[in-house]
Amino acid sequence: MLQQTQVRTVIPYFENFTKEFKSLNSLSKCSEKKILKLWEGLGYYRRARNLLKASKILVKDHNSKLPKTFEEIKKLPGIGSYTANALLGLVHEKPVIALDGNVKRVFSRIINKTVEQINFDKLIKINKKKLLGSKRNSDFVEAVMEFGALICKPKDPKCEVCSLNKVCKYFNSSKKIINNRIKMIQIKEYDIFCYLNKKKQIALTKKNKLGFLNEFYLPKIKVTNDEFKSKDWKFLKNYKNFISNKKLSINLYYKFSNKIPQSFTWYSVNNNKELIPSFTKKIFNQISVLF
Ligand code: SF4
Repeated sequence: MLQQTQVRTVIPYFENFTKEFKSLNSLSKCSEKKILKLWEGLGYYRRARNLLKASKILVKDHNSKLPKTFEEIKKLPGIGSYTANALLGLVHEKPVIALDGNVKRVFSRIINKTVEQINFDKLIKINKKKLLGSKRNSDFVEAVMEFGALICKPKDPKCEVCSLNKVCKYFNSSKKIINNRIKMIQIKEYDIFCYLNKKKQIALTKKNKLGFLNEFYLPKIKVTNDEFKSKDWKFLKNYKNFISNKKLSINLYYKFSNKIPQSFTWYSVNNNKELIPSFTKKIFNQISVLF
């Protein structure tokens, strides 16, 4: 849940989730529809699907226990090297470093070399005794993550209170490395066409062939094309929506009609049992002024 999402946002989701599923077994028996609804608003819905798939495999093939080797854990859906190492350390107390962006940044600052300049496997191997000699491996894995999030932060690290400041080359150097890569923001323009009816419903389809969000029900969406004249549609407004590193400029059109194309289904604007992603909810909010 915490990938790409702030802790503050995740807490109520985590609490609901753990209230709903008291055991791995109960999670494994959940329907995909239900798990997606509980995940609604967190984005990156593949994580929820993978969690469900992994729980089924663990119950069926591993007696509801987490496997003990890196290779076996990594075979589970959605688990990469970072998560496999984090689980080995946190659950099985194995001496590992879970290398994510935060941890790489901490190491890179301590030796004042950019992330690109460092061979992390080699660095860990050379410093194995110093790094992996703890008797409390799960606390160590957790501590390194927290250290990157709370002390050696991406912006304004708290060097003055940091217990490593005497040995940290970044802190003691007059030529400090710069690690921050500025992500390019792509701006794309889309036209969204909403079929509406008087029952406060909107027609959605899965047949949009859009690279992102293509697994969800959405109104008709097209990349803005100047030649396309939307004469049957009324223009409502333009608004912006961010999705990962994309900034979308959206022109919203609507028409009230009881006839909809075959691949569309009516959905309530106010109340749905299915997952409605934030992107679609934002559309619902905009059109709600029309009812
Ligand atoms: S002294 Fe500053 S840069 Fe160095 S590890 Fe501590 S917080 Fe990070």
